[in-house]
Amino acid sequence: MRIVFIGPPGAGKGTQAERLIETYQMAHLSTGDMLRAARDAKTEVGQQADRYMSAGELVPDEIIVAIIAERLAEPDCQQGYLLDGFPRTIAQAEALDQMLAEKETPLDVVLELQVPEEELFQRLAGRGRADDTPEVIRQRLVAYREQTEPLLQYYQQRNLLQSIDGLGTVDEIFARARAVLDKISG
Ligand code: AMP
Repeated sequence: MRIVFIGPPGAGKGTQAERLIETYQMAHLSTGDMLRAARDAKTEVGQQADRYMSAGELVPDEIIVAIIAERLAEPDCQQGYLLDGFPRTIAQAEALDQMLAEKETPLDVVLELQVPEEELFQRLAGRGRADDTPEVIRQRLVAYREQTEPLLQYYQQRNLLQSIDGLGTVDEIFARARAVLDKISG
């Protein structure tokens, strides 16, 4: 299966993504993880990206799209993948559509994890990652609302969007995700 996993920062995408890739044998493509690895390795891309990441802003589309294009060409992606944290803008979604159209490998589903914004701030503030100062958290939530939320309508119009409630235990949320994916994979 080829899946886009979408949801605001703090929704619990990472935790669910780990379980989903294990259950459905997909590659896990997290652009956040890729950027953090590049930053830690002090590559040029990593250093460019760091300025945006540490401000809670989105890294420019050209950088992200180039990273994903390269990653999608790797052999482990041929059996399916979960895109986690990508696309985050309409421009990224359009670039993805074009790449997938060329490969004739359309997306199967866009899975949205829904969590109310009040809850997100609490969770992010409690997580204590080095880049999670209150100001940066606020900025990341603004970036989601303004740049990423429009994707929900984009994918809704393409009949790909399936939304699940992101409140509850990890097991409860995982069961909701499975119900959606089992239906799609038949
Ligand atoms: P994440 O771990 O997915 O929350 O990503 C951490 C940070 O990496 C984000 O706050 C952005 O600065 C950057 N980032 C990750 N994925 C993307 C993307 N698809 N587009 C732009 N920036 C991204």
